[in-house]
Amino acid sequence: MEKVADLHIHTSFSDGTFTPKEVMEHASERGLNCIAITDHDCIDAIPMALSLQKDYNIEVVPGVEMTAQEDDKELHILGYFIDYQNEELNKALKMICHGREARVYEMADKLKQHGVNVDAGEIVKYANSKAISRLHAARYLVDKGYLPSLKVVFDKYIGDGRPCYVSCFKFSASQVIDSINSAGGVAIIAHPGLNNVMDIFPVLLKSGIEGLEVYYAEHKQSTVEKLLNIAQEHNLLITGGSDCHGTNKKQVLMGNIKLPYQYVERLKEHANCKRK
Ligand code: AMP
Ligand code: MN
Ligand code: MN
Ligand code: MN
Repeated sequence: MEKVADLHIHTSFSDGTFTPKEVMEHASERGLNCIAITDHDCIDAIPMALSLQKDYNIEVVPGVEMTAQEDDKELHILGYFIDYQNEELNKALKMICHGREARVYEMADKLKQHGVNVDAGEIVKYANSKAISRLHAARYLVDKGYLPSLKVVFDKYIGDGRPCYVSCFKFSASQVIDSINSAGGVAIIAHPGLNNVMDIFPVLLKSGIEGLEVYYAEHKQSTVEKLLNIAQEHNLLITGGSDCHGTNKKQVLMGNIKLPYQYVERLKEHANCKRK
């Protein structure tokens, strides 16, 4: 039987709920032979996951999902086979995470102005992650009884365009792609079928993007076909993954995409060529 991979998985080091060990346990239960750890703007889970490869007989691809901004549009760029110790990449991630933390303080100020008297430092402690996301803040507000549900937190306060929304520091797509490249990684557009990301495809292509995450559960079949055509036309790599966040999404999504291993091989060959 051909080996299968899930190349988009978050851990508790960003906004997923599974530790690297729990990720490996679920991957094993779901019959995956290869996974990529792709935390938001954070690479801290990678060493632990790599050390568990032999125990679970599962290959771990070191990855990251970096946040970028282009013309007011937020987009996510996956980096695969990165050297997670690379200085330049780490410097860029540190700047993004610093911005994420600073944003919590601004968000707390706005929440206070809207009657939610929350302490930013407590959110930071609760998040226990370098890459603090709005989801961490929202969970804190619900867990501690400030607000009744995640839906209320996002819909009334911190969702996109809501009164307590605060954006955080972001690099441009080309800067993110450069950071991934300097760490010897391969840069891929995450979930290109969402949020009209392909509107800026020409810019991304010019910036050196090398592939598309074609296989993604929220992509319609027609979107998958469109993306496959674009990948072929521009000679781009093809990837796929579940975007598993553990129990932070309605279901544990791991393995809902089972990418044939040949795509991982192509990705790996590509990364190896870049290192020569
Ligand atoms: P951030 O990267 O910090 O802006 O946080 C984005 C995360 O917040 C997403 O990955 C979701 O987990 C969560 N999120 C954003 N908007 C909503 C929403 N309207 N409802 C529920 N969760 C949301
Ligand atoms: Mn997330
Ligand atoms: Mn994403
Ligand atoms: Mn993701």
